[in-house]
Amino acid sequence: MKSGFLEIPFESMSLIFKVALDIPLPGLFDYRTESASQQDIGRRVLVSFGRRKMVGIILETAPFSDLPIAKLQPILQFLDDTPPLPREILGLLHFCTHYYHHPIGATVFTALPQRFRQEQACPLQTGYTLTDEAPDPEQLPTRALVRRKLVSTLNQHGWVDKKTLLALSPSAGKHLREMTEAGWLSASQKTASPCCPPTSPAPSPPLPQLTGEQADAVNAILHTPGIFAPWLLLGITGSGKTEVYLRLAAHMLEQGRQVLVLVPEINLTPQLESRFKMRFPGFAVVSLHSSLNDAERLQNWMLAQSGQASIVLGTRLAVFTPMPDLGLILVDEEHDSSFKQQDGLRYHARDVAVFRARQRDIPIVLGSATPALETWHNTQTGRYRLLRLTRRAVAEAALPSINCIDTRNDRGGDGLSPTLLTALKKNLEAGRQSLVFINRRGYAPVLACGQCGWLAPCPRCTSHLVVHLKQKRLRCHHCGHESRIHTACPDCGNIDLAPLGQGTQRLEEHLAEHFPSARILRIDRDSTRRKHALKEMLQAVHDEQVDILVGTQILAKGHDFKRLTLVGALNVDGALYSADFRAAERLFAQLMQVAGRAGRAAEPGTVLIQTKLPNHPLFEALRRQDYESFASAQLIERKQAGFPPFCHQALLRAEATYSDAALNFLRQAKKLAREIDAPVTIYDPVPASMARLAGRERAQLLLQAESRRALQGFLSHWNAALSALKAHQIRWSIDVDPLDF
Ligand code: ADP
Ligand code: ZN
Ligand code: ZN
Repeated sequence: MKSGFLEIPFESMSLIFKVALDIPLPGLFDYRTESASQQDIGRRVLVSFGRRKMVGIILETAPFSDLPIAKLQPILQFLDDTPPLPREILGLLHFCTHYYHHPIGATVFTALPQRFRQEQACPLQTGYTLTDEAPDPEQLPTRALVRRKLVSTLNQHGWVDKKTLLALSPSAGKHLREMTEAGWLSASQKTASPCCPPTSPAPSPPLPQLTGEQADAVNAILHTPGIFAPWLLLGITGSGKTEVYLRLAAHMLEQGRQVLVLVPEINLTPQLESRFKMRFPGFAVVSLHSSLNDAERLQNWMLAQSGQASIVLGTRLAVFTPMPDLGLILVDEEHDSSFKQQDGLRYHARDVAVFRARQRDIPIVLGSATPALETWHNTQTGRYRLLRLTRRAVAEAALPSINCIDTRNDRGGDGLSPTLLTALKKNLEAGRQSLVFINRRGYAPVLACGQCGWLAPCPRCTSHLVVHLKQKRLRCHHCGHESRIHTACPDCGNIDLAPLGQGTQRLEEHLAEHFPSARILRIDRDSTRRKHALKEMLQAVHDEQVDILVGTQILAKGHDFKRLTLVGALNVDGALYSADFRAAERLFAQLMQVAGRAGRAAEPGTVLIQTKLPNHPLFEALRRQDYESFASAQLIERKQAGFPPFCHQALLRAEATYSDAALNFLRQAKKLAREIDAPVTIYDPVPASMARLAGRERAQLLLQAESRRALQGFLSHWNAALSALKAHQIRWSIDVDPLDF
């Protein structure tokens, strides 16, 4: 420090608040104050921004601003109806903003309940307090039951909201009015501070005796000392992973800790929520997911942050919930791609959860029957620890038998093979339920020869070219190589080449023709659009009002249908031909999950998969339900091809009204990237696999690096350079660890 300067602690000099605003600009915005204290960090404030008033969050205090202080605006108001964000969450958000290269303000507001954007986040409630004139309850005549009740309730709690008081008696409203007129009560408004509903101390059912594998897993997680490392709980469907979660949670609750449970899509796993609620009747279990309204969401968030909620069960967004006593994080179905947000802040909730667990140094358990290859790879390199559940927990529930139907010689006219039809008929006659699963994910179509199995390859990569019918071109979505559509198969000369992909929606009709008396129910995104539709449909299945279920991946997840014994899977080959290197991994996971629906109870299940490639190693691993050998084989392929997890990827996405504009922007971006000296491979700009969406043309540029650190360093520089580009009418974003492209 230079001599002659008076040493003043920074704290007392802080005159600037640095505020995060919900706008797509990088950085924080400075506001002046007389004195900024560290205590103010995390508080909500109202500020003016341009001509608007906006809600912001104070993230930092500072002694100086780069702007002249006279130019700075003051804070208009502190909005303290919500508590300040704790340091831990701010740390998590800082991590996200850096890792995903997303503006801090947008990151902060993505992570918060919608209501935080409003000046008044918590709605005001009317309530009552007793005045000095109010009598004691004992002074009231014994007949005045309602009044006694009202007065003693108010006596006990001070202020009580009107709704609660009205619930005390049907005539409470009349008495409140009269008592107010008599001067006993005064009405006032307060922000609703949520409090947990009282829980009934229902007798808990006896706990099942843990299997040896379950007990080992629980013990390992609770009692392995050492440095932080996430756990992978690899357990086949029905092996009792949930029971392991419940035991771990019970241990934490006993110690007064909170538990965060992340699930892919809560609508699809309602059973999990009720299992937690039933197991812990004395504790508040709250959920956080998109079908809650804003007020409910805020309420549950508040319960979590105040420590009142012991268990928070939620979808990806719940990973940002403040929980002061957090002691354990569970991520169920950790491989599920819905943990990755596909717009704005493109975070992966599982990865953010791992960061959060590390930050707090608490255990995190990732559970799956088919972990993401990235996660599996981490167990192989020792970064994550592996626990296995290899047998079904219920003794009599055998694993389903899985077989392929070779549709090269066993093909029906309408996509249903005779073998599958016979099996369906038998099952129907036996009065059991069947599920026909169609894999309908939008895999990009690949040009294929039906004669010899040739698939148009990319000469520059290990991937296949994607058919763009409209432009009559083939394109590699990985490197950008382009060619004309072949007129004949280069291997066998067959001129009947066709894009392979997409399945059919007419299946339901075909089934109805084959089985006119069967009760058939189709469950997919379209048929379940209406609120509660899915719930009602699932109930119908449970109530045995359905013989044959037809559905997409919605049906693959955690449902436990006791009478379901036969599963047929159609239209799966597209994934094996796909240009997306993750398609096989997804198919395997999906088929394992679908197979897990069959034979959950005492009756054994059968799974029949229609395919033209019955000898594909994926099906062989599937027949043995052998995730590990499938994963090892996949990792070898990935390593040879230099794909993740053996490299790290980022994608620059751009969209514009005209595809030239988007591509031009990416070309400029590539030029800028070339100027940055880093061991990063930069591919060519290409149109996105869904090149046109909602009238916008989309294109992308892929980057790849062996070192995550190198990629991150590169992205920081590049992001800054891109922000300085004049990108007129281009929307662009960086996607770190992209999953779908
Ligand atoms: P997963 O989550 O791995 O698919 P679940 O936890 O849902 O498996 O368990 C499958 C079935 O086995 C459930 O009906 C569950 O109640 C039962 N179950 C789990 N653990 C045990 C156990 N130790 N003893 C008896 N039944 C168990
Ligand atoms: Zn051919
Ligand atoms: Zn290529």
